[in-house]
Amino acid sequence: MRALFLDRDGVINERIIDGYVTRPEDFHIIDGVLEAMAVFAQKFDHIFMVTNQQGIGKGLMTVADLEAIHNDFLRKVEAAGGRMDKIYFCPALKAEHSFMRKPSIGMALQARREFPDIKLKQSIMVGDTESDMLFGHRAGMQTVLVGPEPHLAHKYPHLIDYYYPNLLAFAKSL
Ligand SMILES: [Mg+2]
Repeated sequence: MRALFLDRDGVINERIIDGYVTRPEDFHIIDGVLEAMAVFAQKFDHIFMVTNQQGIGKGLMTVADLEAIHNDFLRKVEAAGGRMDKIYFCPALKAEHSFMRKPSIGMALQARREFPDIKLKQSIMVGDTESDMLFGHRAGMQTVLVGPEPHLAHKYPHLIDYYYPNLLAFAKSL
């Protein structure tokens, strides 16, 4: 079965540079994302979010804060005709070098354990950073870079299979 793995910040919501989204009011969904999610629901067997959230490890927010943000997003996805099977997040600090933190592939392996029909080789990782591309590549997935840094696709051609300016452009290509 084919799964879609989506990074969060910079893919689904506007990234806060040097900061963290700690409240639903600060979670600004990028234009076209809800429309893209409805397309993905038709095209993929499973849809996941995989997100590093070290703001929790830093004590800037709680797991409950994060879940409030995500539940609000999921309601909007479902209202727009989309779905998401599960959100995986890693609260560890970068310095902890957790296997669950991207670019390590713990979250992909956890998804495959919980949804054993997933074939990672048939699956796609979408993200906006080198770390996301490394995560997808290491897990054996195809990788899609989105966002304002297309030059990364030239810098890391071995890690990045496709580039689209945003999630909706990718969805429309399917
Ligand atoms: Mg990101």
